[in-house]
Amino acid sequence: MDIAIVGAGQAGVSLATRLRNLKHDGTISLIGEEPVAPYQRPPLSKHYLLGDKSFDSLLLKPASFYDEQSIALLTGRQVTFIDRDNQRLEFSDGTTHGYDALALTTGSIARTLPAEVGGALEGVFTLRSAKDVDEISASLFATGERPDGKQGRVLIVGGGYLGLEAAASARKRGLQVTLIEMGTRILQRVAGAETSAFFRKLHHDHGVDLREGVGLDHLIGTDRVRGAKLSDGSELEVDVVIVAIGVGANAALAENAGLVVENGIVVDAQCRTSDTSIFAAGDCTSFPHGDSRIRLESVGNAIAQAEASAGTITGRDDPYVAKPWFWSDQYDAKLQIAGLNIGYDRVVTRNGTSSSPSFWYFRGDALLAVDAVNDGRAYMAGKKLIEMGRTADPDAIADPGHDLKLLLRP
Ligand SMILES: Cc1cc2nc3c(=O)[nH]c(=O)nc-3n(C[C@H](O)[C@H](O)[C@H](O)COP(=O)(O)OP(=O)(O)OC[C@H]3O[C@@H](n4cnc5c(N)ncnc54)[C@H](O)[C@@H]3O)c2cc1C
Repeated sequence: MDIAIVGAGQAGVSLATRLRNLKHDGTISLIGEEPVAPYQRPPLSKHYLLGDKSFDSLLLKPASFYDEQSIALLTGRQVTFIDRDNQRLEFSDGTTHGYDALALTTGSIARTLPAEVGGALEGVFTLRSAKDVDEISASLFATGERPDGKQGRVLIVGGGYLGLEAAASARKRGLQVTLIEMGTRILQRVAGAETSAFFRKLHHDHGVDLREGVGLDHLIGTDRVRGAKLSDGSELEVDVVIVAIGVGANAALAENAGLVVENGIVVDAQCRTSDTSIFAAGDCTSFPHGDSRIRLESVGNAIAQAEASAGTITGRDDPYVAKPWFWSDQYDAKLQIAGLNIGYDRVVTRNGTSSSPSFWYFRGDALLAVDAVNDGRAYMAGKKLIEMGRTADPDAIADPGHDLKLLLRP
């Protein structure tokens, strides 16, 4: 059986690797449009943006891996159409590639600002690929200084994890940073007010001008961005803009091929799309979770779902059950998140006034998720409890003297 995987990112590599581990002995083609070998994205907004890490250190596998595993890695090749009737992929250069089974691991696409508000001006960047970061670094971002020796000014649009990580990296680079979030608080979509408050203070303490409830009206400049007018009427001078306003599933290829797409490529619990010979995994999918469907943008999901789809392709029938986890690094704060807080009605705080607090989300008596800052023990305890389907006594959690290990006792 010839298996083609479109999208040579985290999920694509995990899927190809797992297929070989499961003794698939047919061909595997791993196809990516980026001109480089597959790499990790999380360091892009952290150490790579800071200039602390080389591109080579981001590679998901050493160069020799693909040959050793007989995985044909095709980079710099964009798939433009899936001819389902003939089980054939079409590339932008007009060539084609047949398949018996196809896996789509096309990831996400960063939302951009429309050109009408200045999104096409020079100096305006998104942060999704290594190329994006190389371009940001080639701007004054790397030195923190403008050509006239003055401190560079960066505007970050969007107060989610990506925007906040970019803000932390920019401050470490010596830039003056303004971050605007049009929602009433940063991290509104993903975290409770307690977690937002912790990170708001952290960024204030590091000198970020953080403005919540303020959106972008438009960017100012003719060719290059030089300023921004905000929704509250204020104006800022700006040298670099990083747009971190979320991502959408990269599902156009699937949609054009007539696959069912609703907030991502719709897959069942076995990672099958609406075409029995096409599978999908990672950021580009929406999959069953309890009574509803979700789409996750995380490394943990990309790996686990890709491995599950390799199982399905090689004849297993195990359903994929997501065990969500995520992390974010900002300054010296390492946030680790276990579970999903969707539908929470109560947050219990542990060590709230320290630099290592954790925030525990409940719905009724059920423990849903934990946000733990600089506290690996709280993260691990929360993760284990959630994965075992157990809960914990909120009073015990709130008591910093209570040993979390006791919560895990049968
Ligand atoms: C800056 C940044 C920081 C992040 N930080 C974290 C973090 O701290 N923790 C965490 O858990 N997650 C983090 N994430 C999210 C995480 O990186 C993604 O969830 C993960 O990479 C998803 O893997 P994927 O394989 O689904 O998609 P991707 O890794 O995006 O790979 C998809 C690949 O498919 C290629 N492709 C798409 N269409 C085609 C086509 N038509 N033809 C050929 N190739 C195509 C794309 O170019 C891309 O290389 C971060 C993401 C970014 C961008």
